Order: sequence, then C-alpha cells, then structure tokens
Amino acid sequence: MTQDTFKALVLTQEGKKTVATIQPLTVGDLPEGDVLVAVEYSSLNYKDGLAVTGKGKIVRQFPMVPGIDLAGVVLESSSPDYRSGDKVILTGWSVGERYWGGYTQKARLQSRWLVPLPTGMDTRTAMAIGTAGFTAMLCVMALEEAGMVPGGDKPILVTGASGGVGSVAVVLLAKLGYRVHAVSGRPETEGYLRELGATGLVSREEMSQPPKPLEAQRWAGAVDTVGSTMLARVLAEVDYGGAVAACGLAGGADLPTTVMPFILRGVRLLGVDSVLCPLARRRQAWARLAQDLSGNALQSIAHIASLEEVPQLAGDIIAGRVRGRTIIDPNA
Ligand code: NDP
Repeated sequence: MTQDTFKALVLTQEGKKTVATIQPLTVGDLPEGDVLVAVEYSSLNYKDGLAVTGKGKIVRQFPMVPGIDLAGVVLESSSPDYRSGDKVILTGWSVGERYWGGYTQKARLQSRWLVPLPTGMDTRTAMAIGTAGFTAMLCVMALEEAGMVPGGDKPILVTGASGGVGSVAVVLLAKLGYRVHAVSGRPETEGYLRELGATGLVSREEMSQPPKPLEAQRWAGAVDTVGSTMLARVLAEVDYGGAVAACGLAGGADLPTTVMPFILRGVRLLGVDSVLCPLARRRQAWARLAQDLSGNALQSIAHIASLEEVPQLAGDIIAGRVRGRTIIDPNA
C-alpha cells in the first residue's frame, strides 16, 4: 500500500463465479457520496456469506465491495449532519449488495444512511452488535410492542440461537429479565448458550418436526431466525395471545403452517426487517442497545477477523459453522 492507497475486499465476476480479492484502492475509486469514512470495523452476517460466496445472488452489480455494515470515523463531509471526527454506524440500505459496503479501510457513503454512534458505545462494540444484533433488538422491540413483558409463566424461545441474531437475542432477552429457551442444532454450544443467559435448551431436530395445526402451548413468544418448518412449529406452540418476531430464513423461505395458530390462539406473526427500517426507529434501537448491552455482555459472543479471512468465513457462515458474531477489522 502507498500513502494514497488503502485496501478493500473486492468482488468481481468471472463467468458465473464470484471471486473475492484484496485490492489496493484510492479515494478516487470510491462511488459518490457526501461523507467519507475511515472504517474501523465491519462485521460478518449471513447475507455477507451469501454475497462473498455468490451463493445468494444478492450482489446487484460488480465490482462490489461487500460488507453490509460498518462503524468508523468521518474523514470528510459535505453534509450538514456530520463533521470530520464524528463516529458513525451504518447498517442496511442495501449497502454491500447494491452499494459498496464495509470490507474496506475507507468508504464513501450517503449521510442519510448513517446513525451517530451512541454515547458510551465504541465502534468495536457497535460491530460486535452489527446488523445481526441490531435486528435482534428490532425483534425485542416488536415483541414489547405486542405486549410481551418479563415474568410470565412461560419462556421466550429463540431459534438459530448460536448464530449472530440468535446469540444477541438470547443476551438481550435474558438481560431484560425474560426466561429464555434456545433452539440449536449444535449440542456443543450448550455451555455457550447458558453463559449468554439461556435457561433451557431445545434441539433443532425436535423443533424441525412438522407440527400438527396446534401443539401444546409452550412459549410466551419467540424470536425466529430460521423460518420454514421450525417457524411453523413455533407458531403452533406459542401461547394464546403470544407473538413471534420473525426475521430470518436460515432454514428456508417457505412457511408450512395453517391459519389455526392465528384464528384459534390469536398468535401474532411480526415480520422484522433491518434493511429499510426508518431512521427514527434505527436511532431508537441503537439507543436501546447502548443502554441494555454492555461491551462485556458481548465478550463471549464476538471474535475478530481480518479482511483476508473473510472468504473462508463466508463459506463457514453459510454452512452454519460460525458461532456468535464475527467482527471484521480492515486494519488488521
Ligand atoms: P448465522 O448463520 O449467524 O445464524 C443462523 C443460525 O441458524 C445458525 O447459527 C444455526 O444455529 C441456525 N441454522 C443454520 N442453518 C439452519 C438450518 N438449515 N436449519 C435450522 N437452523 C439452521 O446467521 P445470522 O444470525 O446473521 O442470520 C440469521 C438469519 O436472519 C439469516 O437468514 C439472515 O439472512 C437473517 N437476517 C435478517 C435480517 C432482517 O433484517 N430481517 C437481518 C439479519 C439477519 P444453531 O446451530 O444454533 O441451530
């Protein structure tokens, strides 16, 4: 790297294959935007796995700098909202899919995508949370708005619990005083999930059995990151009047359910999306994350990797081999 160049992970297409290489870029190579940011950290999410491996066909144009989130410091700004030196977070808005994302040492961005780093939070903690943790918070807020409160007689279920969204959801719900049960396909993560605050473990196999239209009412509510038969089973097992915040499809995009949970038990299915979430709700969710989660709470969840490690990790996350959250440090 010369003084003027910096490094980025760049995706190109060779035939139908997506190829990821570390390349030297200059500021002149960056797309248009009103804010230039020195990226301190990004993170690895399921969607990044799809983008970097090319499996999900979610990258809309090449070359692409992937990375659906980032946290860093503003270097230059022509926006009245941000000044040089401000710390910022970016998640969503199709960054890393349609627009260049966070796997780079520098990024030029639209200021309207940014959220100021909340007081008391550092950029590393922000990306230990990242898109996955932000989505977990949106799920918790959706359950609260549906009337969920701690102290009920039945636990809240979190599916895909050892993954990024699931891990943060377990920590958040446990910290807020809910009794949390965790569904995982990896029995070896039991100690980890208990450390995060889960008091009960359920096997993925058990929750993957196709349900009858209604099953015994076991859960006050749930955060579902898996979809498909597991979500159908969760819906059939949720208590009368309960709610399920559904944000993911790690197990598939279908939903083999019936109307019975909705019409006979008043169960509510709350769809959660972090990509186009309005700015006011983003700020509210990040303020809640700063209040409800300390960096310490995330210590056993998060580990750090370099840009060079991303291609390998992308394959791992798609294969369900990554536990918790992976912070990407472009300066490592
Ligand atoms: P991870 O890969 O970190 O976690 C997913 C977890 O789901 C895995 O760790 C595994 O947990 C479980 N899992 C994986 N494959 C299967 C399968 N075939 N059947 C059942 N369980 C499976 O991903 P993230 O936590 O980052 O994301 C989870 C989902 O949420 C993804 O679909 C992602 O696209 C979506 N998402 C949606 C967002 C939104 O805005 N709506 C934002 C962020 C993510 P275990 O081994 O413990 O069973």
